[in-house]
Amino acid sequence: MSTGTINVAVENIFPLIKKFLYSDHEIFLRELISNATDATLKLKHLTNIGEANVEYGNPIIEVKIDKDKKQLHIIDQGIGMTKEEVEKYINEIAFSGAEEFIEKYKDKQGEDAGIIGHFGLGFYSAFMVANKVEIITKSYKDEPAAHWTCDGSPNYTLEESSKTERGTEIILHISDDETEFLEKGKITELLTKYNKFMPIPIKFGMKTETLPKPEDAKEDDKAPTQEVDNIINNPNPAWTKQPTELEEKDYASFYRELYPMQFEEPLFNIHLNVDYPFNLTGILYFPKMTNDMNIQKDKIQLYQNQVFVTDNVEGIVPEFLTMLRGVIDSPDIPLNVSRSYLQADGAVKKISSYITRKVADKLKSLFNENREDFEKKWDDIKIVIEYGMLTEEKFYEKAQSFALFPTVDGSYFTFEELKDKIKDSQTDKDDKLVILYASDKDEQHSYIQSAKDKGYEVLLLDSPIISHLIQKLESTNENVTFTRVDGDHIDNLIKKDEEAISKLSEEEKETLKTFLTDTIPTEKFSVQLEAMDSSANPFIITEPEFMRRMKDMQKSGGGGGMFGMGNMPD
Ligand code: ADP
Ligand code: MG
Repeated sequence: MSTGTINVAVENIFPLIKKFLYSDHEIFLRELISNATDATLKLKHLTNIGEANVEYGNPIIEVKIDKDKKQLHIIDQGIGMTKEEVEKYINEIAFSGAEEFIEKYKDKQGEDAGIIGHFGLGFYSAFMVANKVEIITKSYKDEPAAHWTCDGSPNYTLEESSKTERGTEIILHISDDETEFLEKGKITELLTKYNKFMPIPIKFGMKTETLPKPEDAKEDDKAPTQEVDNIINNPNPAWTKQPTELEEKDYASFYRELYPMQFEEPLFNIHLNVDYPFNLTGILYFPKMTNDMNIQKDKIQLYQNQVFVTDNVEGIVPEFLTMLRGVIDSPDIPLNVSRSYLQADGAVKKISSYITRKVADKLKSLFNENREDFEKKWDDIKIVIEYGMLTEEKFYEKAQSFALFPTVDGSYFTFEELKDKIKDSQTDKDDKLVILYASDKDEQHSYIQSAKDKGYEVLLLDSPIISHLIQKLESTNENVTFTRVDGDHIDNLIKKDEEAISKLSEEEKETLKTFLTDTIPTEKFSVQLEAMDSSANPFIITEPEFMRRMKDMQKSGGGGGMFGMGNMPD
């Protein structure tokens, strides 16, 4: 047996580890299972290339609770470590990693603690929940097993062990104030959160499996059962496969695997798969956006090599796409940095624009392949597309080919089609194209009716951000102006009907005008009597377009984020 002192610059690292990662104690399990996975994959590699002369077999990782002894065990069948390797990898390398981590982040607890807590600590994160940690490990090399023990001070013991099977067992002696990690429910929750898609099967206890009844079984014979390993993960999730290997039903079932509580089907999916100039795989789903009850809960999940990192992808995918669901897996996203640094990072920018392009391409191909179906989905996806058009220039350009403008009668035009349709009939005195739209079919019913009577197209634009989008469209299309059907600009367009106006005597007109002026707040509206040719509308009240727009913008605008769209995540 040998004892030693871990070479420390920071006097006692363990209280520090505990203190600085107060909010993220649970990540210890992910770190230890990641190490077990690495050790197993390394063995696979070594046997593949003929370096390790052992049987790889079907290794699993096992997590076990020993409640009486207050112990949690993580056991793998990977490469293991010799005594010298424990000295090197645990006492020196792992420790220096932890030390560096503490040095770097000891002053930063606020803003970035969440994401930082996810990375960089490795093996020593075990001391967040344990007051003593043991490693019993046997290398694949023909050498005796080693047993390392450390009680949280920089002192450790290292001796030979009688372990005969290859691999590593980590024993955590759980501290008295962390006993939740001895609860089956808690460990199940963590395994499902962080390890659901890790590449090596993870066993946690046993479960009862029902077998098919034998052929000669009687009606009320019970089906036979057997006890099998309870494997908590799917080591081959859909996103790790090639798109050509997958059918629509595979994408649908993976969606349910990701969001077991989500009963609505996604509208469509986008498979991401690139290995140059960065590595990224993933599957994104467009959910129905009309029912936004679950948006906040079910978010895009970020993985690195099948290990869950976070479901806060802010700064990694463009903001308008954070409303989607699914998985992104990339080892190329630096995570031990702040969000603001992340946004400025070159690789992350490339990733973000790749994702934007893939989403735009997918929308375009859906539009081209089946326009009718795309139109049906429009209401459920428009908010994402319109928001993307507003916030990402590249997306705005691409969206010109598939963004739709529905009319009150249920036809859908692209912007080009719309302009073409109205170019002869809807121009004002400056020869600008006037696009009429309504934001509420019921409220603006009579305005819509009179515009339609004149043969005009009336769009139905009712998204909360539409006034911003209109402004953008006007600024990029010089000869186009939008007017809501109850806006005053419509005066320039609607031809006056001299016949009709003569139906009122001068005196009647005067009375009506006085009445209206007294009734309507004239600081907001102006009163002008004009004859209408629809008998349903003895008169219409219009509001200056610019006044209403200012109000709309104030309502939906203001402080940053998603244009104050209250029903969306920020
Ligand atoms: P990292 O995983 O980033 O290298 P860790 O602190 O998690 O850092 O682990 C340090 C080192 O200890 C690993 O690189 C590995 O060599 C060794 N190690 C940790 N856990 C195991 C294990 N279960 N089996 C074999 N080696 C391990
Ligand atoms: Mg590690």
